[in-house]
Amino acid sequence: MDLQHWLGRADDAIQKWGDTFGPYQPHPSLHVDDDGFAAVFEEFTGRLKDNYPFFHPRYAGQMLKPPHPAAVVGYLTAMLINPNNHALDGGPATAAMERETVAQLAAMFGYDTHLGHLTTSGTIANLEALFVARELHPGRGVAYSAEAHYTHGRMCHVLGMKGYPIPTDEGGRIDIDALEEVLRTGDVGTVVLTAGTTGLGAVDPIHTALALRDRYGVRLHVDAAYGGFFTLLAGADGIEGLPSEPWRAIARCDSVVVDPHKHGLQPYGCGAVIFRDPEVGRFYLHDSPYTYFTSTELHLGEISLECSRAGASAAALWLTFQLIPPTPAGLGLSLIH
Ligand SMILES: *Cc1c(COP(=O)(O)O)cnc(C)c1O
Repeated sequence: MDLQHWLGRADDAIQKWGDTFGPYQPHPSLHVDDDGFAAVFEEFTGRLKDNYPFFHPRYAGQMLKPPHPAAVVGYLTAMLINPNNHALDGGPATAAMERETVAQLAAMFGYDTHLGHLTTSGTIANLEALFVARELHPGRGVAYSAEAHYTHGRMCHVLGMKGYPIPTDEGGRIDIDALEEVLRTGDVGTVVLTAGTTGLGAVDPIHTALALRDRYGVRLHVDAAYGGFFTLLAGADGIEGLPSEPWRAIARCDSVVVDPHKHGLQPYGCGAVIFRDPEVGRFYLHDSPYTYFTSTELHLGEISLECSRAGASAAALWLTFQLIPPTPAGLGLSLIH
């Protein structure tokens, strides 16, 4: 992809559409001439070099791939319109793209029903899952492994829930016996299982934990913010260290979080939370007379804790998934190489 070419085409396309609304002059207070801009831009691009070259294949300090050029073009093109995915009225096109990409993510995890949406980050996505868990199990806490992402403890604090860090085995996976011991007290209503810990890439034995849900009446939430897309490779021929059992078990858990801005080739500002039971939408119930007018269909803001959210993130993900879908032969291949 020739980025320069497509960024030019993006500007043309949106300009052409904008022109159909008739000419106008921006207010002089906003005027910037090219000479003035050039000087500041020079300084700006100079300052941006105070960065590590995250995009470079020889830079190994960051565990992520750079955003795909398709994602960059998708993001910047939509940004020229600047839709807000809070409400259908804020961005009908990108709201539709968000629903389609979330459905693709739900299918990737094997969910046959779902309710979900994109978020600004994995932290907010996990917060939403724990919020719903709290509404369903008021007064009970959350267990997660000692290797789980630090934000689980933090979000428990935010939500006023007690957190229970559980020791891990030598492979960095949650110790199921230690977990069961805590569940026996009846104080825990939700277990967070991590599919790909941030430190070690360890995958908790999600398939083994399924039996605990029935035995102790707990909710199972999977934090696959970091590792989620590796489900595309699980159990495939020639792939070592990714047995399929824990990954296939995600389909039977109550909720899952994945960060397209980690291994989904997206720029920052793109997490996702997916619930298996669409009925949990009732916990988000609120009214917003300023933003919800046109539709009897659910607005994305009606099923998320955040209000304004960049429609451009959904646009970037949609465009990327059209070209590199979340399938073993699509995004799956990019994870190996
Ligand atoms: C990165 C990460 C998070 C937090 O996600 P952000 O998008 O950085 O907010 C949560 N859980 C795991 C396992 C992660 O790797």
